[in-house]
Parts: sequence; C-alpha cells; structure tokens
Amino acid sequence: MRTGYPALAALLIVLAVSAGLLMRRASAPAEKAEGGLRVVTTLFPLYDMASAIGGGRAEVSMLLPPGMEPHSFEPRPGDMARLERADIFVYTGSSMEPWAGDLVRASANRELLAVDAGRDIVRAAGPSGGAPDPHIWLDFDNAKVMARTIADAFQTKDPENAEAYRRAAAQYVEKLSALDLSYRNGLARCRTRNIVYGGHYAFAYMARRYGLEYSSAQGISPDSEPTARDLAALVEQIRREKIKSVFYEELASPKIAETVARETGAGMLMLNAAHNVSRDQLRDGVTFFDILGSDLAALREGLECR
Ligand SMILES: [Zn+2]
Repeated sequence: MRTGYPALAALLIVLAVSAGLLMRRASAPAEKAEGGLRVVTTLFPLYDMASAIGGGRAEVSMLLPPGMEPHSFEPRPGDMARLERADIFVYTGSSMEPWAGDLVRASANRELLAVDAGRDIVRAAGPSGGAPDPHIWLDFDNAKVMARTIADAFQTKDPENAEAYRRAAAQYVEKLSALDLSYRNGLARCRTRNIVYGGHYAFAYMARRYGLEYSSAQGISPDSEPTARDLAALVEQIRREKIKSVFYEELASPKIAETVARETGAGMLMLNAAHNVSRDQLRDGVTFFDILGSDLAALREGLECR
C-alpha cells in the first residue's frame, strides 16, 4: 500500500489545485475579463505613459490621428463617441488642447474620469513674454509628475490593481531619470550651446534644463509664418556662431529649415518634440524614450558635443 500513497496524494493535490483555480476564476469581477480600463489620450507622450502604466490591463488609444499636427487639430464627431465608451480621458491642459475641456463637458459619459495631466506643472514663459510654453513633457521632471498623475487616475478607477499601476509608474519614472542623466552627460561638453530651430517654439523646457540657448523661427504653434526679419536673425546667428546644423520639426514642412540651411550652408537634423507619431511608428510601437533618444543623438551631432 505504501507504493500507492504518493500517487493518491498527487491526485488529491491536482484536484485541490483545480478546484482552487475554478473558484478563483468564478469570483473574478466580470468587467476585468472584458479587457480592463479603456483609456483615451490626446497627445503621444500621454499615450506612451498610459500604455506603460496600464500594461496589459488597459486598452489605451490616442485621439489624435497618426501624423496629425496637434496644434491645428479639431476633434471630429467620432471622437465624442470614443469618450462615451472610455473610463479615463487624459490631456495636458487648455493651451495645448483648448478643445479638450469642451469635449469633456459635452460628453454624456457620467463615469468618465477626465485627467489634466499637466495640472501640477508650473508653465515656463513662452517666446518674448507671450503665452506660456505648452510643451511641458520636454522637461523630464514634468514628465515624471504627469506619469504619476496618470497612475493616480488608474488607481482610482481600478483600485484592485492599484499596486501594479504604482509599480509601473515607478518604473517609468526611473527610465525618465536615466534619460535625464544621459542628456545631462551627453550635452555637458559641446562646441556650441545654441539650438537653432526652423520650427515652432517647443524646446524651451529642454533647453532650460540642460543650459542650452534656443531660438525658433515660429511662436508656440506651427501655423504662424515667420517674418523675413525672424529668418534673417536665424541666418545671422548661424553665421556668427559658426553653427553646423539647423534643426527641423517632425510633423510640419521643413521648408523654413531648408531656407536657412540653403542660405548658410548648414546641415539639417530632425528634433522631434514627440507631440504625435506617424502611422508606421505607432504600428512599430515606438516609445517616448526612442524619440527622445534620437533627439539626444541629433543634438550631440548638431551642437558638436564630445
Ligand atoms: Zn508644439
């Protein structure tokens, strides 16, 4: 009989484990089985943060169509329908998405948690004392605050998984610290500290953080045409400081940078403010860290850093 005992014990263990699994499955809340939190974000940095924090528990989508320049974006009727089905809507504030508040107010979804991820961020002044700079995510300390704000919303809506969201947010914040350090080291010793940007005013937070100077051809939105005097000032700066490269932006025509480059013989490099991504980038799962890593490489080349 002794030889039969372990087999019986093993059988009992298998039965007990199966029963436990069945009971656990039966008691799991029904809504979790349906795919977890539904999260809609406006801009790419928010999409990246929400995706990382949600892990496999959230279905995150971006309201901006891929490749769309966000400053001129106007929501379409279908966007309202997406909010009706969402648990959480994340945006950065009224200067970047002036339409977001209206969308939330017009929504019939009483359960929707609308999160202004920029609510705790102190805005830096815009160009020549104008409206504040809305590109808050380009200071990585701001990005940390935004990630934590988003994680708070996830915890509020899905307290059962609060610990997982907190952990994922902490990991995201750690990656931002590493990125910040690579910028600090990578931009410490450069021949010039002047970023000449043939696009709209977007990199002031980054420039301030790493002790760089920043001149842009346009104001805080890319829809304004630069004046001949603005262009002449950039050309003059490039010549005076023997700057090797002019930077251009990701989703608008590079024609301003092309004009300046032609006039001065400077090269051209893309500096991506990560507002949004292309359809291909979205499909390939490009991250905020991929984009900002490429930016660091471009800055190091353009500013001639060692
Ligand atoms: Zn912008």
